[in-house]
Formats: sequence, structure tokens, C-alpha cells
Amino acid sequence: MTQPPVIVLGAGLAGWTTVREFRKLDAATPVTLITADSGDFYAKPSLSNALAQRKTPAQLVTTPAVRMAETLNVTLLAHTRVSALDTAARQVVTPLGRLEYSRLVVATGAQPIRIALGGDAADAVQSVNSLDDFAAFHARLTPGARVLIMGAGLIGCEFANDLAAAGHPVTVVDPGARPLAALLPVGASTALSEALQAIGVQWLLGSSARAVHRSGAALQVQLVRADGSDAGAVTADVVLSAVGLRADTGLAQAAGIACDRGIRVDDRLQTSASDVYALGDAAQYASAGDRTLPYVMPIMAAARTLAAVLTGQDTRLSFALMPVAVKTPALPVVVASPAPGTPGEWHEAEPGLWQHLGTDGIQRGFVLTGKQTARRQEQALRVVPA
Ligand code: FAD
Repeated sequence: MTQPPVIVLGAGLAGWTTVREFRKLDAATPVTLITADSGDFYAKPSLSNALAQRKTPAQLVTTPAVRMAETLNVTLLAHTRVSALDTAARQVVTPLGRLEYSRLVVATGAQPIRIALGGDAADAVQSVNSLDDFAAFHARLTPGARVLIMGAGLIGCEFANDLAAAGHPVTVVDPGARPLAALLPVGASTALSEALQAIGVQWLLGSSARAVHRSGAALQVQLVRADGSDAGAVTADVVLSAVGLRADTGLAQAAGIACDRGIRVDDRLQTSASDVYALGDAAQYASAGDRTLPYVMPIMAAARTLAAVLTGQDTRLSFALMPVAVKTPALPVVVASPAPGTPGEWHEAEPGLWQHLGTDGIQRGFVLTGKQTARRQEQALRVVPA
């Protein structure tokens, strides 16, 4: 009797990289990749620096899905949304019927967090977490369109830089006092804020959007301060929400698989269900102190380990220090954060270089800005993980 295939759910970086790594080790075992989107391969980080480079959504596809499937010898079921996992029967439920798996990899990514907004145009607020989202956003960006961005985190700052560089008036609204407040020490955050302001980004910090109304062809965004007082209104043509992502645990949770902030996986990427694995933005890694790690480098490391596990190797996942580059050409930033809750403080060692020093004097993280970003390797070698 032939064994059912390995089924991979999701054609993002996590899904495709797992297949690619698996094929390096095993050319023969049947693999089926099921995805709700087209399956075309693209680098998601390029979504937040495509506009200044005048790239269209179609130009961001680096390898069409059909070519990926051929090259990797995979049965591709594109535009196919899985509605349920049946771990007892070892099947996934699709519009094409139930499909059996020998091993299942859940790589369904994350979903944008949506803030409840009032107003008759609340549904006009867009998020960008996929190529399709980017295409919809791109279609609304007429030349010179005014853009209001909700959220001054990593994605909000990157889009602010890209939109401003592409000639759009940009306003960023955030309840916090400074951009990238969760990641950067005050000095680095201030420098980033000033650099983006210098290219035209307008900050409305300490306030958040309450409602979005239609105002002729434009949108009017009403703002509120943390104390509930009115903070005025901003007129924009496009509103982009970049307030964060939440791991997509829907299918796993409904199937009774242990989830918390993401689908919980051990150091072999195994979930609480036998022969069901997870990685990518959907996963919460025991190897990372039970954290989600929604970045490219952890996905590459997890995919390599998972491919080895799927071929029967006794491999364990451990994460090296993985600095994140913030794509803000107005002021490039590289950040290697200490694990959450690590005692210690940020110190500005030199202009553009901050080191996170524990109470024991040991360096646990760093932030580099501007030209100092060239020192990423040197600083990474100095960090001792907690
Ligand atoms: P996704 O890419 O979200 O893929 C999920 C897949 O699952 C999709 O194919 C989807 O169709 C499919 N799917 C979901 N549900 C179902 C279902 N029920 N049935 C079938 N298929 C389903 N990280 C960095 O390290 N550096 C950066 O500079 C950087 N920049 C970024 C910029 C932006 C704008 C964004 C949004 C993210 C950025 N990231 C960056 C994060 C990084 O891109 C992500 O961590 C990574 O792409 C996530 O990949 P994934 O495969 O886990 O999820």
C-alpha cells in the first residue's frame, strides 16, 4: 500500500522553505502543498520597500507557483482553503474532499490584528500581510495619495519610509510616545523618528484612530487620546493598519492542538498531535522560550530542522542570535533584542550603537543605526544569550 503524502499547509516562506529543505534530503516521498493563495513565491519583506523602487505586485513574484511545484516535485493545490484538520483520521478537509496525510506541516502564517473602528468607512482600512493585500493596497495608491498609517511598529515605520520616498504624504498615528517603542531604546527611537520626519513623515503620537468616515472621495480618520479626549481628525485617501499580527491558530485550535500565542511546538517542531508539525508565523517555539518569532531567519532555521525531522533524523532546533534589519533607508536600523524580561539596561556606547547590558555587565543585545549597521557581525559575536 502506498503511503499518503506529507501535506504542507501554506505557501509562504515557511511552507515553501520546508519543502525545499525536505527535497534536499528526500527526493522521492510524495509531498502535497495546499494553499489558499496562488502559491507564487515572493519575499514578503519586499512588500514594505517595493513602492520607492516602483515595483508592481506582479514584479515581486520571484518564482511562479507552477515552476516551484515542478522544480520541487510537489503536488500543488492552489486557491484551496483547508477548513478543518482531523488528526484522529489523519486527514485535512478541503473543498476537494478529505485528503490523507502521513505527516502534516501547518505553516498558515499570521493574521493582521484588526482594531474595532467606528464610522461608515471602517471597512476601507487595509492591512498588508500578503502579496494579494499588497496588490489591493497598490491599486488604491494613486500618485500623491495621502496615507494614514495606524501603528509605529516595524511594519508601520517601513511603510512610512517607503511611501514617503515614493512621494506620498504620510501621517503615522500610534498611542505610544515614540516609534518602535517595544524594540528600541529611547535614543535610537528618537533618531528614527527624526530621520523619517526629515523625509516628510508626520507623527501623531499619543493618539489612535477611533473612527473612519467617508468625506467625498477621501477618508476622514477621527483620533482619540489615551485619556479618551478628542485628538482631532486627519484626512487621507488611504488608511493602512499596521498594528500587529497574531499567529493563525484557528485550524489547530479547532482540532484540539495545544495553542497559546501560536501553535505550540517542541524543539522538533512537533505539535501536541502526533505527526503534526508547525513553523513560521503560526508557531510558538519551545526552543525560543515559548515565543513566536515572526521573522525570516527563524523560519529558515526551523525549516531546516523540520526537514531533517521529517526524514527521521534526531535533530533539535536551537536558535542562534538573529538580528532584525529594519528597512528604513532614511535611517537603517539593526536590532538584536534581549529575551523578554531580561534584566538590564540599554547604554549608548557610541553614537549609533546601543548595547543592552545585564545587571552582571554581560551584553545581551544591541541596536545599530545608520553607518553603524555595518558592525552587525562584530556586535553579534559579543552577545551572550540569556
Ligand atoms: P505567510 O507568508 O503568511 O504564509 C501563510 C500561508 O498559509 C499562505 O500561503 C496562506 O495562503 C496559507 N494559508 C493560511 N490559512 C490557510 C488555510 N486554511 N488553507 C490553506 N492555506 C492557508 N521578516 C524579516 O525577518 N525581515 C523583514 O524585513 C521583514 N519584513 C516584513 C515586511 C512585511 C510587510 C511583513 C508583513 C512581514 C515582514 N517580515 C520580515 C516577516 C516575514 O516576512 C514573515 O515572518 C514570513 O514571511 C512569514 O511566513 P509564513 O510562511 O510563516 O506565513
